[in-house]
Amino acid sequence: MARIVMKFGGTSVADLDRIRAAAGRVAREVEAGNQVAVVVSAMAGVTNQLVGWCQSLSPLHDAREYDAVVATGEQVTAGLMAIALQAQGVEARSWQGWQIPVVTDGAHGAARIERIEGKGLIHRMETGQVAVVTGFQGLGPDRRTTTLGRGGSDTSAVALAAALAAERCDIYTDVDGIYTTDPRIVPKARKLARITYEEMLELASVGAKVLQTRSVELAMKERVRVQVRSSFTDAPGTLVVDEDEIVEKPMVAGIAYSRDEAKITVRSVPDRPGIAAALFGPLAAANVNVDMIVQNVAADGTTDLTFTLGKADLPRARRLLDDAHEAIGYAEIAADADVAKISVVGVGMRSHAGVASTMFRALAEKAINIQVISTSEIKVSVLVGAEYTELAVRALHTAYGLDVA
Ligand code: ADP
Ligand code: ASP
Ligand code: MG
Repeated sequence: MARIVMKFGGTSVADLDRIRAAAGRVAREVEAGNQVAVVVSAMAGVTNQLVGWCQSLSPLHDAREYDAVVATGEQVTAGLMAIALQAQGVEARSWQGWQIPVVTDGAHGAARIERIEGKGLIHRMETGQVAVVTGFQGLGPDRRTTTLGRGGSDTSAVALAAALAAERCDIYTDVDGIYTTDPRIVPKARKLARITYEEMLELASVGAKVLQTRSVELAMKERVRVQVRSSFTDAPGTLVVDEDEIVEKPMVAGIAYSRDEAKITVRSVPDRPGIAAALFGPLAAANVNVDMIVQNVAADGTTDLTFTLGKADLPRARRLLDDAHEAIGYAEIAADADVAKISVVGVGMRSHAGVASTMFRALAEKAINIQVISTSEIKVSVLVGAEYTELAVRALHTAYGLDVA
């Protein structure tokens, strides 16, 4: 007998048949004697539609009202899941973020969970009642509903597992585990039996959408045993574990891509102290996150500065740089949204040399031009033209020997 959290993503609750099937999985765990809390996402496509409605009415909409709108998707699924469970003879009750409460900070649209009051739910679970909890939502300090950022139901599930001291947090989704890369673009991707928290964290942060970054960060901190598995089959999933639980450490564990990037080049900036501060200061003050940065000094004493940022921030960043034209004194600005970031990740990089050179050679063989490079301890990222995304990921997957035989 164990206490477990089962999270079902959008495609796993996309229609009534799927909700019924997911409820069937929950019923099996209850019959096996487990105490179960279920976390649900909105039905597939619903959150996108809700976000679209807010944007259509006003591109610069009020974040509190955005949350009031987009949190409704999960409310519907939670109620339906509770009804489906009851119809299968399982005692169940739905809970919204504010009812538990899932207390968050006040960053509407991208809130962070601060604490979850778990006692009430534990008490009910001990009497055999399944708690069906809305993912993605919380209660802010202004006593209004907040949401946790796209993909946030993963984080709801991990945070709930920590608050309930659950033995497992099973993330049910439309793939049967974590693969060496997105199996939708690389048919030869290989399913991993285990992956380290660190590698998954890095992969998520550079674009692997299978888990929200924050959920992995939280799982690592709170020592939650996360398993990613299929809603549609009984295949064993992938466990996210500590590094010492993996004996054989490959040089590269996985490859991720992100099409959410954009690139800005600021040309002919005077090469003197304080310029980088004048350029990046206003961006930071406006919460524009800058990722990769390269700077090159030309013979004439000026420098070109290239950096990447989120595509959604591009219009705002351009406006800020236009405003700072005089203070910085650059010649011109070029922006490019047709780029993709490809990253290879592996804790084995700490002890193996040659990861980056293998990457550059594999891309060169496919005549893919590298625009920007950045590295960290367990990651190498390159920026390439967006049209090369699939080709680059597949070439690297082969180059690192990750293809299934
Ligand atoms: P859910 O709606 O269940 O939260 P998501 O769409 O958020 O599901 O995440 C699952 C998707 O993540 C898969 O359909 C797959 O296309 C994508 N994905 C990206 N990288 C990977 C990877 N390395 N392993 C498995 N899936 C991945
Ligand atoms: N429904 C939300 C989204 O689509 C949260 C989630 O599914 O994790 O982003
Ligand atoms: Mg998701």
